[in-house]
Amino acid sequence: MRTSQYLLSTLKETPASAEVISHQLMLRAGLVRNVASGLYTWLPTGLKVLRKVEQIVREEMEKAGAIEVLMPMVQPADLWEESGRWEDYGPELLRLNDRHNRSFVLGPTHEEVITKLIANEISSYKQLPVNLFQIQTKFRDEIRPRFGVMRGREFLMKDAYSFHLDETCLKTTYQNMYNAYCRIFERLGLDYRPVIADTGSIGGDASHEFHVLADSGEDDIAFSDQSDFAANIEKAEALAPKGTRPSATQELTQVATPNVKTIEEVATFLSVDAQQTVKTLLVQGANENTPVIALVLRGDHQLNEIKAENLSEVASPLTFATDEQIQTTANCNAGSIGPVNLPIPVIVDRSAAHLADFICGANVHDTHFSGVNWDRDIQNYQVADIRNVVEGDPSPCGQGNIVIKRGIEVGHIFQLGEKYAQAMNCGVLTETGKNQTLTMGCYGIGVSRIVAAAIEQNHDKYGIKWPSAIAPFQAAIVPMNMAKSARVKETAEQLYAQLQRAGVDVIFDDRKERPGVMFADHELIGTPFLLIIGERNLDTQEIEVKNRITGEKSLMKIDQVMSLFQ
Ligand code: ATP
Ligand code: MG
Ligand code: MG
Ligand code: MG
Repeated sequence: MRTSQYLLSTLKETPASAEVISHQLMLRAGLVRNVASGLYTWLPTGLKVLRKVEQIVREEMEKAGAIEVLMPMVQPADLWEESGRWEDYGPELLRLNDRHNRSFVLGPTHEEVITKLIANEISSYKQLPVNLFQIQTKFRDEIRPRFGVMRGREFLMKDAYSFHLDETCLKTTYQNMYNAYCRIFERLGLDYRPVIADTGSIGGDASHEFHVLADSGEDDIAFSDQSDFAANIEKAEALAPKGTRPSATQELTQVATPNVKTIEEVATFLSVDAQQTVKTLLVQGANENTPVIALVLRGDHQLNEIKAENLSEVASPLTFATDEQIQTTANCNAGSIGPVNLPIPVIVDRSAAHLADFICGANVHDTHFSGVNWDRDIQNYQVADIRNVVEGDPSPCGQGNIVIKRGIEVGHIFQLGEKYAQAMNCGVLTETGKNQTLTMGCYGIGVSRIVAAAIEQNHDKYGIKWPSAIAPFQAAIVPMNMAKSARVKETAEQLYAQLQRAGVDVIFDDRKERPGVMFADHELIGTPFLLIIGERNLDTQEIEVKNRITGEKSLMKIDQVMSLFQ
């Protein structure tokens, strides 16, 4: 690749719209461009990285015995009605009609399509087990897309689905996939942790998430400081011995700021209908004098029923979410709930949906947090940490104490059980001739999110420091004053041809730019080796090699350069 024939598209300034470093660097290094909220074009350099991640994932899936398929992104509503998720999935599911007025969805995930496929294709136990995967675009109408491709609306996922006659077989494949995931993240060169996770609305018995550790991560992960126990915070809370800490609801009530209103007071801001709804939705044990921690408007009671001019008078820690939103987010990100344009801090009481444990997330205007530690995340709003599990608590595993770190969820595997197979009549004839419902596993990896997560973990003030396996280019040839020196030009051309022949992914900077501009671009893009060709070093048949990761510069004989890539 020659830069003169390439779309480099680097930016000097940091775009103001980008909050996290990976998003800033992805824009500056010319990896992606925003098209609309949560929608991105991958520019050539970004696409190279994406494809490298994809290829590692594909190779490891194949090694683990999974077979590649490709399912449509547009899926008929019928399938979703059959599984029950047409009702259950909530507003992240983008629904559309075709010209015949038939309903469809843009696939946020593919359990329905694959289960229907297997129900049709497989009839005998002899064809089992089977594990199919695809690498396909997903669409989720995220309430608050942010952090660039980290939480897009359209994103690339590898999803695999396995089908089994019995649970023992499912467990074997699950373990197999778990191991494949570990290999993938090791090959990607990322600092990751598998953590036990709640299965949530998707159902099933066992689940693990894979997290890339990074301060900008949206999830809290609880580790034991003395064992290898690691769980996402929801699971850690579910496992924590009951009664060891005061309930979060109690704590929050105790620290609530004075402008918290009672339920009675809040109701006066609402329409008559909404008042009724609020009163019937009191969190367990509350009465009309209880401070309002979270307000959940169900069904068709929308925000606009609250008079806008009264909003600032409504106690600050309020949220408004439809029943649907509560259901969708209850098992993933509490922080997803909340009005987008409400200029007040928002606290979400997920228990309003379940009337069970109080787990919460929080939002400030246009900001999404899940599993927040409120001390740290909510500006201008002092609330104690209301986690049921906090740092220093005894670990639920019985060894050591809890340490909490931030993670980016890059993978998630589930033992699904019979949920979809049962709903969609997916079974086979067993050896004894009876019909048996299959049991399923599903395994997701956020391919596009990984690109951003890798940058969160690997950057410095000059730009991206790619792990070598996914660097867009392995080397950049940077000639000094090529226009003036025939010798430099010739050496650069020869080296370029040689590296290309050897299959090295090399970019040849043949622009008429100052050296400083070229260096800055390649350091920003994060190419592991800069091969700097200067007139003076050619007297001794040498070039200068700069290692992007260590920052070291050294002289190297031209005929030794290939050894960098072997
Ligand atoms: P999150 O908790 O971040 O919303 P999720 O639990 O809803 O993710 P899964 O249904 O488990 O996501 O999907 C599998 C993987 O797809 C996730 O582990 C993540 O890496 C990726 N993913 C999910 N949502 C997005 C998104 N909006 N943008 C980019 N990647 C995503
Ligand atoms: Mg999640
Ligand atoms: Mg989600
Ligand atoms: Mg998940």
